[in-house]
Amino acid sequence: MRCEVVAVGSELLLGQINDTNSSWIGSELAAVGIDSHYQTKVGDNLDRMVSVIRLALERSDAVICTGGLGPTQDDITRDAIAEVMGVPLLLDETLVDKIESMWGLRGRQMPEINRLQARIPEGADAIPVQPGTAPGIVAAFEYEGEPKVVYAVPGVPWEMQEMMTGFILPDLVARSGSSDVIASRTLRTWGQSESGLAELLADEIDRLDAAEPSEGSVTLAFLASGIEGLKVRITAKAPDAAAVAALLDDEEQRVRSIIGPIVFGLDDQNMESVVLELCAEQGLTIGTAESLTGGLIAERLTNTPGSSRAFRGSVISYATDIKTSVLGAPEGPSVSEEMVEAMALGACKTLDADVSVATTGVAGPDGWEGVPPGTVWIATCVDGVVESQLLRFRTDRMRTRQYTAITVLDALRRRLIDRAT
Ligand code: ATP
Repeated sequence: MRCEVVAVGSELLLGQINDTNSSWIGSELAAVGIDSHYQTKVGDNLDRMVSVIRLALERSDAVICTGGLGPTQDDITRDAIAEVMGVPLLLDETLVDKIESMWGLRGRQMPEINRLQARIPEGADAIPVQPGTAPGIVAAFEYEGEPKVVYAVPGVPWEMQEMMTGFILPDLVARSGSSDVIASRTLRTWGQSESGLAELLADEIDRLDAAEPSEGSVTLAFLASGIEGLKVRITAKAPDAAAVAALLDDEEQRVRSIIGPIVFGLDDQNMESVVLELCAEQGLTIGTAESLTGGLIAERLTNTPGSSRAFRGSVISYATDIKTSVLGAPEGPSVSEEMVEAMALGACKTLDADVSVATTGVAGPDGWEGVPPGTVWIATCVDGVVESQLLRFRTDRMRTRQYTAITVLDALRRRLIDRAT
């Protein structure tokens, strides 16, 4: 099985974006044993895209196109695939409903133009894994008498990666005639940089590279997920599902033994769902006292289905006098250890919660009352005992607030785990 990559987008040719998608896809194909001899970049031009895809199909069995699946006029990857197949694009109403409901879940109405993303070449299908609003395409058809498959994934790296891992790689392995099964598991981490994580896991990656293929193969990859930390993805390939599951279990244990407590969850879990699960397991209720984060933590918690079982509420004590009048904090500097600890205690008391988190700090861009921007105090209160921590961020306002929200939830997660052991 040979598979080529076609990266679509004039901005790639103009050097405005680095084509990291092609290199990522290349390394993933290699990891599952699929040959990939060519990678092409092509601008948003129908004729040139069609000729690039045709050429790729003449020398390979499969083609993965990345980019050009958006709703605007220059997003023409689906048109190019339809032309290569010699079929029209058909509007898939079920897909329109799906895209519309994804916009709805984000609290927004789908612009009419996005209906265009639900057009699929006749005879092709939407990729069942759809992490963002743009559907991917899988088109299996006969080209010049040979069976071929063309995939199209969005250019947005994380959407592309999820479709690759969740659908395309296993599909390619199955089409290659190999009876091997491939599956992956993602460890969600918080608290390490990508290079720090790579350093910690370097020996393990070397060990895997040197392992005998007869034992089945396992690879590790790091995926950045923006303000949500880093993902360590384990991919295993073996003759059957049971062997794959055993390889994944074994590798998960090895990775956990190396990076340990920074792993906060698996696959679809996020920090707040893990915290809420821990609260539920221990029969605890939770409240938040938020100054710097202004409700971000409460928003995260309430986005999680079933949060009402544990979440009591939040005091957004932005103004200093609210910290004192509602939370009972003493007068004094707003960004300080004393203040954040009093806020955490006050949250448990005012909201009648068993545990709480509290945040206060200077999000920037300017300093405040002599405190430099990026200075943040966080606290957690568990069983009436408060612990606090000083954080210093050197980033923008939005990230400072987001990082603070996830960091304080992580601090509570760690305490809840300690509490249970
Ligand atoms: P959308 O549905 O969001 O419009 P799309 O499939 O149309 O996605 P593009 O518009 O081509 O994709 O790209 C969206 C963004 O994804 C780009 O702005 C860029 O940041 C990133 N991107 C696109 N192609 C690549 C690539 N080959 N490598 C890395 N990043 C890319």
